[in-house]
Amino acid sequence: MLPALSYGKSPGCQIPANVSYIQVLLKELSIALGAEHLFVSVLDAELEEASTVYYLVKQRRLDNFIYSLDDSPCSELFSASSPDCEVYQNSYRKYPFSNFPCVRDIRTYMGIPIFDQHGFVIGILVAMFYKPIQVTKLLTTLLKNTAQLITARAQGYFQSMHEHDVSTEGGINQYLLEVIDKFTDVVLLLNQYGVIERANSAISQTLGYAVSEVQGVHLCELLTGAESALNMSYIQEFLSASNSEVLDINRRVRLNKSSGKELQVELKLSRLNLQGGNVFLLLLKDMTQSLEVDKTIYRMAYYDDITQIKNRNCFEHDVRHLLRDASAHNAYVYCALLDIDQMTKLNLNFGIEGGNYCIRFVAKRLQQLLTAEFQVYKSGVDSFFIVYRQRFATASPDGFSRHMMEQNLLCSQHFTLEIKQQIVPLSLSLGCAVFKAKNYSYEALVNTLEFAKNEAKRLAPFGHFFMKQDQQQSYRRSNHIRSQLYKAIRNEEFFLLLQPQYTQEQRIVASEALLRWQSNELGMVFPDEFIPIAEQSGAIIDIGYWIIDKVCQLLYQCDKEGIKTKIAVNISGKQMMHEGFKTELLRILHKWRVRPASLILELTETSLVEDIEVVKALMLELDAMGFMLSIDDFGTGYSSLSYLKVLPISELKIDRYFVHDIKDNNVNSEHGIIQLIVNMARILKVKTVAEGVETKLQYDYLRSINCDMYQGYLFTKPIPVNEWRALLISNPNCSLALAD
Ligand code: C2E
Ligand code: CA
Ligand code: CA
Repeated sequence: MLPALSYGKSPGCQIPANVSYIQVLLKELSIALGAEHLFVSVLDAELEEASTVYYLVKQRRLDNFIYSLDDSPCSELFSASSPDCEVYQNSYRKYPFSNFPCVRDIRTYMGIPIFDQHGFVIGILVAMFYKPIQVTKLLTTLLKNTAQLITARAQGYFQSMHEHDVSTEGGINQYLLEVIDKFTDVVLLLNQYGVIERANSAISQTLGYAVSEVQGVHLCELLTGAESALNMSYIQEFLSASNSEVLDINRRVRLNKSSGKELQVELKLSRLNLQGGNVFLLLLKDMTQSLEVDKTIYRMAYYDDITQIKNRNCFEHDVRHLLRDASAHNAYVYCALLDIDQMTKLNLNFGIEGGNYCIRFVAKRLQQLLTAEFQVYKSGVDSFFIVYRQRFATASPDGFSRHMMEQNLLCSQHFTLEIKQQIVPLSLSLGCAVFKAKNYSYEALVNTLEFAKNEAKRLAPFGHFFMKQDQQQSYRRSNHIRSQLYKAIRNEEFFLLLQPQYTQEQRIVASEALLRWQSNELGMVFPDEFIPIAEQSGAIIDIGYWIIDKVCQLLYQCDKEGIKTKIAVNISGKQMMHEGFKTELLRILHKWRVRPASLILELTETSLVEDIEVVKALMLELDAMGFMLSIDDFGTGYSSLSYLKVLPISELKIDRYFVHDIKDNNVNSEHGIIQLIVNMARILKVKTVAEGVETKLQYDYLRSINCDMYQGYLFTKPIPVNEWRALLISNPNCSLALAD
């Protein structure tokens, strides 16, 4: 606390006892300047003696001292022609015997007088340096601004409200005062020094001060918080800039309430040009409510209602950030997805409240079990994401205790709780992976975790599935294929090959249409890879109709050219069960004027077992319309032979894997199976087609047991349409096939 001191030449004016604002300001200034000594002095009336009111040495406050102006460089401040910042280098030479405390060590002296509003010198602000320093414009401006701020700060205390009553000066009229009084927000009218000239009555409600209490007080008295000095310097700059372009500052500041509490307000400052001069209008909007709303919105957006832990939005935000960072460093991240098993059952048994209790219990346990390096987020209803906050340089980093952490999480004893006097053991499933960030978008990462979690579910209770790098790679490839498949028809990336089927007499009776995909993005993709994915995703339905359409178009063209033949089309189980399959099939046939008898529909054994009654009804209908039905890959499925009796089947295709195993003339089990199929087919009056015939030996054996037809590389590989047409035209027996 400082003693109240008299100012020189301005009797009656006092430096306020509480100079905390000036103290903050000076400390910041001394840091900014790098000055070893910094002080403010007040002068006596005769300008002979100066007393420091605040003295800092290397930012530490020391006791004040009194010194003679004559023996110090300060005296020169008043003799200078302009009242500006003065700089003296090597002052010590001039004042070798001065009692000024440190003058011998000082190489650079900077000083500036402080004036009152009447132009009287009332004090000085001095910064001194041990080293000779280059005094830049920035340094002098800093010093000057601070001197002005001190002046402004002091003004509020000696300014007589009578002298400066703006309303009587004709500046602020009564009308303006009435207008501001209508505001529910606090409105203050400031002079250019930042002194409050008028306040509206809202101030008593908002801050708890009487209007008269704040009038004549400097605004800085109201500001609080670490950033108050900075805010004040912005405001001061605004007030003092003669031609300010920035007439609107929008700042959030904290104010002292009379109760001693703080209030956050948004501050809007603008200048009013009144007859008597400029007045500054300061609007203070109480932010309490809107901050509360902000907080609520933030909580709602980023926190889970039930568990009060961070939610999926927050996870997305954080993981995107982590991925970006790790990707830039070519690094890896660890994430896991943990799911409570049988949540539906828990809800049924204990009600929704009981279910929520379980979820809260798990959330709490996870936070207890995991170290601070992990962050837990609530995902859907009953699952949690776990993220390791740091990135790793390698996929299997040392010192990362994934195994221990996972084992700890999947320990049943941690997850047994009591609900309604009942002991309930919970079970969890954990899917996790270390991701190479560069290869993953946020969506792909979540997708992979879902997959890993589902794999873990299969191993319940406490299922655990860590997705290794190679598994991730093949999973990514399938996803890539899946995403590309949808565009493939539109981009005309599919085409058909045809593979003829021969009789024992070398006649081509039919040909199988086989799909090929030349993907713009992935290159050539083979059906063994993409057909299962298309089946899984449902894309096979549109693809299937596209194939039927192309095959029918081909049959139509062949018909026009006088080529009579049949084409076998592979029909996926999913497609056959698709509602409207029969209608669409007939529509396409009608469009190309193709007879059902020209089409062989190849159905796999597995597709037959789905819902045998429905399949049977459909097959009977298709058979009645004249389509030929063939069973593909016969012998590989689990279905019983008994359905062959009840289903309208015209042909069995012996899977190429059986044929492949015919390697010599010694009868082995494959020989036996093939012979069995052929014999049985004969009894049922169904034709047999051997697939994948590659060698003369295989052909001879199949012929010896009287297989009806042959398809394979030995005869013709799958070939493009043009080549196929040329082959049919050159095969004199081709049209004879129709006689069958
Ligand atoms: P699949 O229906 O059993 O087709 C016969 C497969 O055997 C074809 O493979 C064919 O190129 C191959 N092949 C023919 N002769 C020989 C041979 O002598 N040796 C060997 N090793 N292989 C031979 P592809 O074209 O790669 O097709 C694979 C599978 O993809 C097909 O097996 C079928 O299940 C599916 N697929 C192909 N095209 C279509 C289609 O248009 N629709 C549907 N739903 N599936 C298709
Ligand atoms: Ca086939
Ligand atoms: Ca087959």
